[in-house]
Amino acid sequence: MRNDAAHTKVRGRLAPSPTGHLHLGNAWAFLLAWLAARAAGGEVLLRMEDIDPDRSRPEYATDILRDLRWLGLDWDEGPDAPGPCGPYVQSGRFERYAAALKALERAGRVYPCFCTRKELRNLAGAPHAAEGIAQLADDGSPRYPGTCRELTPERRAELLRQGRRPALRLRCDEITIPFDDLIAGPQALSLGDCGGDFALRRSDGVFAYQLAVVLDDIAMGITQVVRGDDILSSTPRQLFLHSLLGAPTPRYAHLPLVLDAEGERLAKRHNALTLAALRDQGVGAPAIVGYLGWRAGLTESPRPCAPRELIAAFGFHRLLRGPVTLPPDITAVLSRLA
Ligand code: GLU
Repeated sequence: MRNDAAHTKVRGRLAPSPTGHLHLGNAWAFLLAWLAARAAGGEVLLRMEDIDPDRSRPEYATDILRDLRWLGLDWDEGPDAPGPCGPYVQSGRFERYAAALKALERAGRVYPCFCTRKELRNLAGAPHAAEGIAQLADDGSPRYPGTCRELTPERRAELLRQGRRPALRLRCDEITIPFDDLIAGPQALSLGDCGGDFALRRSDGVFAYQLAVVLDDIAMGITQVVRGDDILSSTPRQLFLHSLLGAPTPRYAHLPLVLDAEGERLAKRHNALTLAALRDQGVGAPAIVGYLGWRAGLTESPRPCAPRELIAAFGFHRLLRGPVTLPPDITAVLSRLA
């Protein structure tokens, strides 16, 4: 896979989804994505990924911008900092996604898929088989067995007449898409490993994350993507889309995740670990930044600091590997750092 971006100025991005409040796991990923771009003398762009109308809320978007600024992060372009690649909000970019989808359709790469979620679950067979694949597919979807790939035009017409609304899937090649992750090292997943033919548009008409993120990264000239390793299995799919669209590819870095004391990935139910809740408990942004910078391996001790104070210490090679498990008394630990 080409990497034409290697010699250009670094452009990184923060790409929050406004589906909840930011928690310590989000702060970790955004702090390190920001540091990676700033340490390279690069630019940072903020893109609000409100592609899914069922899950996105404008009030979360507002709070996310506030919380990121509170942490001490800044961006050169974003919803509140207009630039040449706007709009920086996915809900304002639907026409672009539709046009790209049309072009892929014209190239014979897209087909309608009438399978329901339930049918897909049943097709995936035994729960054990599905589990193995769920590890790789970031969206939890089982490997798509290609059921609707070769439907005849007559069968498609019949299903449409029955009122079934199709998702649109990308016809993937049976190939491995190697890439060299700046943190996780060389990767060699096949598109099949990553779930096979994937959706570009859901049956309810919502554009899929994979399509939107690739089109936006291309349009916004992103050269460096730093994000959680829960999305690593998306990267071969995104690189494949980049190659179909004839666009240069960014470098990717997938960060270990932040886990709670029980080893669970931080999620919405961790209300106590949102930045807003910590702030309400009197925890300061410098304590959070200093603590996360220390857990990343950038400092010797957890000393409160601003993100910019960590820029000089940043290096992908310096980052500690493995998940970051928080102590059960993390709020108290952060409070003491004030
Ligand atoms: N918006 C996605 C999320 O919040 C991140 C997508 C990406 O970094 O590619 O999980």
